[in-house]
Amino acid sequence: WPNPVSIKSTKKLPTVKLFIDGKFVESKSDKWIDIHNPATNEVIGRVPQATKAEMDAAIASCKRAFPAWADTSVLSRQQVLLRYQQLIKENLKEIAKLITLEQGKTLADAEGDVFRGLQVVEHACSVTSLMMGETMPSITKDMDLYSYRLPLGVCAGIAPFNFPAMIPLWMFPMAMVCGNTFLMKPSERVPGATMLLAKLLQDSGAPDGTLNIIHGQHEAVNFICDHPDIKAISFVGSNKAGEYIFERGSRHGKRVQANMGAKNHGVVMPDANKENTLNQLVGAAFGAAGQRCMALSTAVLVGEARKWLPELVERAKNLRVNAGDQPGADLGPLITPQAKERVCNLIDSGTKEGASILLDGRKIKVKGYENGNFVGPTIISNVKPNMTCYKEEIFGPVLVVLETETLDEAIQIVNNNPYGNGTAIFTTNGATARKYAHLVDVGQVGVNVPIPVPLPMFSFTGSRSSFRGDTNFYGKQGIQFYTQLKTITSQWKEEDATLSSPAVVMPT
Ligand code: NAD
Repeated sequence: WPNPVSIKSTKKLPTVKLFIDGKFVESKSDKWIDIHNPATNEVIGRVPQATKAEMDAAIASCKRAFPAWADTSVLSRQQVLLRYQQLIKENLKEIAKLITLEQGKTLADAEGDVFRGLQVVEHACSVTSLMMGETMPSITKDMDLYSYRLPLGVCAGIAPFNFPAMIPLWMFPMAMVCGNTFLMKPSERVPGATMLLAKLLQDSGAPDGTLNIIHGQHEAVNFICDHPDIKAISFVGSNKAGEYIFERGSRHGKRVQANMGAKNHGVVMPDANKENTLNQLVGAAFGAAGQRCMALSTAVLVGEARKWLPELVERAKNLRVNAGDQPGADLGPLITPQAKERVCNLIDSGTKEGASILLDGRKIKVKGYENGNFVGPTIISNVKPNMTCYKEEIFGPVLVVLETETLDEAIQIVNNNPYGNGTAIFTTNGATARKYAHLVDVGQVGVNVPIPVPLPMFSFTGSRSSFRGDTNFYGKQGIQFYTQLKTITSQWKEEDATLSSPAVVMPT
């Protein structure tokens, strides 16, 4: 957690508001957290740790708004989302600028962040089909069976720093289109995009109270996990936080879905298209400075593919590291100085444990941004599965490289790793690709596709240590997560078929 500062007056710096009952309000908190521009480390604003009274007001607002919103026709809810997707498109560049300012990623990448969230909003507009229940007529004489998908009530979301628009948009649009109301807690490091998205949702016609936003850390998280009026929690972030929230939320009888950390392997076969594969690997390892849960942070070079290592290094060297708003930047800074220190320590651990650093980004200086949290592309080779730099999620622009003789050994490595978020194989052989996709125990597999994040008509299906819960984010699974079934058995008899005596036997 970043350390909160106690301030009497917040006037000197812009403050992030709470969004309660349709109003953007200044918090009365005396605990505030600085928001930094990661390219300069300047403090650019402050976000409050909402007080207990403010969190209570937010949840009361969600609860009050629920019955009317759940009763609003599905077509009217769909209309709100249709207007919303239009407004997001119109404001995409503005949202992206905010993301670059607070999070550091390049503007082009920030636009991708908004765009991938927008696609989930577009998908949510299909609610009229997605929310359909099932029917079975004539299960016995004059009797029909049908089910409805109904909203749960108040749902809540807790988001990470690395996709300030996309991940909140995985959450509240899906929940709300189903008729739920939503309490959102964005990452305290990057709250700006969520606030703008809330304003656009309000402008799209979402009634007051259907979305409320609180800010904070421990107290806000515990409030969400414990509050009896919250029926479901969507979490995305680290394992430490996700496992805690999953357990605490579940203990209070809530549905919890938790997408967590990763270590994604790209297996490179010697028959792969070399040019394409090297470019894909470099883009997916270092894009967004490696701060993606689907970053391809581990390469497994099989057989002769190990000879491509020098070329891989050359390509990585050519990437331009700069502030995200500078033209031509390929990757920006890490989120905080602590994140930079952690990444550098993990690179150090590689040297100490016998790996070789082929490209070292630790000492990079970016002209004009000497105080930023920059780490340049780094490649560590001769890595073994027992090394710290292999076991830990680095979450920085660092590619660790392992080598194997065969595909089977590569599969064994991937399957022995506890995470199951994503993986990719690069090959021109269909049978090899099929074997890999079939045997690898990872929830999202790319074949010559380095970052296989499914489009929203499917679901985000990370597995093993990368996920806790039963039902995934977005797609049909997302609708299932935010709805419950009610099943109705209905009999309408003709008058002359009226029962003449009590039916005491279990109906069959
Ligand atoms: P984080 O866990 O530090 O923070 C996520 C949220 O949890 C924030 O809102 C934060 O306030 C809260 N939080 C932080 N520490 C907590 C704790 N100890 N207990 C309870 N709540 C806590 O994660 P982050 O650094 O913002 O995001 C990076 C992580 O998120 C990486 O591990 C990355 O792989 C993961 N991630 C996963 C996915 C996915 O879909 N699998 C997507 C994006 C990011």
